[in-house]
Amino acid sequence: GRKHRLSILGSTGSIGTNTLDVIRQLGGRDRFDVLALTGSSNITLLAEQAIACGAKLAVTADAGQYAALKDALAGSGIAVAAGPSGLLEAAGMDAEWVMAAIVGTAGLAPTLAAARRGADIALANKECLVSAGALFVETIGKAGGRLIPVDSEHSAIFQVLEEDQRHAVERIVLTASGGPFRTWTREQMADVTAEKARAHPNWSMGLKISIGSASMFNKALEMIEAKHLFNVRPEQIEVIVHPQSIIHSMVGYTDGSVLAQLGCPDMRTAIGYALTYPLRSTLNVDRLDFAKLARLDFEAPDEVRFPALRLARLALTRDGLQGAIMNAAEETAFHAFVAGRIGFLDMAEVVETVMDQMVDVAPATAIDDVFAADAEARVRAAEVITAR
Ligand code: NDP
Ligand code: MG
Repeated sequence: GRKHRLSILGSTGSIGTNTLDVIRQLGGRDRFDVLALTGSSNITLLAEQAIACGAKLAVTADAGQYAALKDALAGSGIAVAAGPSGLLEAAGMDAEWVMAAIVGTAGLAPTLAAARRGADIALANKECLVSAGALFVETIGKAGGRLIPVDSEHSAIFQVLEEDQRHAVERIVLTASGGPFRTWTREQMADVTAEKARAHPNWSMGLKISIGSASMFNKALEMIEAKHLFNVRPEQIEVIVHPQSIIHSMVGYTDGSVLAQLGCPDMRTAIGYALTYPLRSTLNVDRLDFAKLARLDFEAPDEVRFPALRLARLALTRDGLQGAIMNAAEETAFHAFVAGRIGFLDMAEVVETVMDQMVDVAPATAIDDVFAADAEARVRAAEVITAR
């Protein structure tokens, strides 16, 4: 039959390379037509990927790398573009399925462009939902595409959430590994470096989400992501620390039942599910060995040591553009932390200050309001960081 046309925004990242592996495992070029791939700094990998999967267009988000990408793909017949307009061109190609795996708010505009065409969106870039929330969901719905979560927790919930039982959903329980500092005191966390913070115990991921796992800002973003994906009230969203990362998340029903999705910590299961949904595929990933596993542990999250969780509650309660503001301030604080300009614990303080400063911003009526709040929150976060 006809091949499934797809594009990957952020193909050179951790999710992007896992997505290409899943595509290869499920039949590669015999079954899929890869239209566009996008990366940013890793030109060598982007060119290799584009040639290996026969992409029609390769785009680097970094306009300064246009010539390098052009050189790397000379004679290949693969079109090349760069910068924000290049990303939009990639998103605009006729793919039926688009993996949104750019990191940060940089992913919002291209993902929206793909959504507006009616493409199915496999969403790894949680920042889209945290920032643009209902407007993002609405854009996809209006254009007729499906929104399929890739984030492992949300994929788990999506997999166990039975459509005809939605009325009986009482709560959703997001599991959190607790990250590398799960048992650390605030004093111990005060002077950790980005190098230490990125070493995740269970998952191998990009830099931003690894630091976000250590600070639990990743879980904070995921709480807001869950609200918009599953249309639940803030008080229906629970977080439980589960250090083994075997249960990827759970849904609790009004009859007391709790359904969970389990698996080895490997993003390819969630990516594969998003690719072949509503069918499951056959993947070469590790199988759970329950006898070896022996036990699963749980503990309550500590909002004093991990204030990000409290800030997510605040954003959920305040609603409006607080998600966009939290997300933009967090991204700015993350860059400052990685650059050694602020400490690990300062990130949450910067975010809270900016959220408080912008508490009166009116809710968004259009996407431009989201971009404006995002930009203002970045400026304010930079000011707070400089003033420290
Ligand atoms: P990576 O940092 O590994 O990859 C990010 C991708 O985005 C790369 O292709 C990178 O290009 C590209 N990129 C970087 N900066 C920009 C920019 N300014 N504009 C456009 N593209 C850019 O991230 P991950 O794969 O870990 O994460 C991607 C998204 O998926 C994030 O939103 C994350 O929260 C989410 N996610 C990731 C999980 C994981 O296991 N990794 C799990 C669940 C969600 P290059 O590398 O060439 O510079
Ligand atoms: Mg996750």
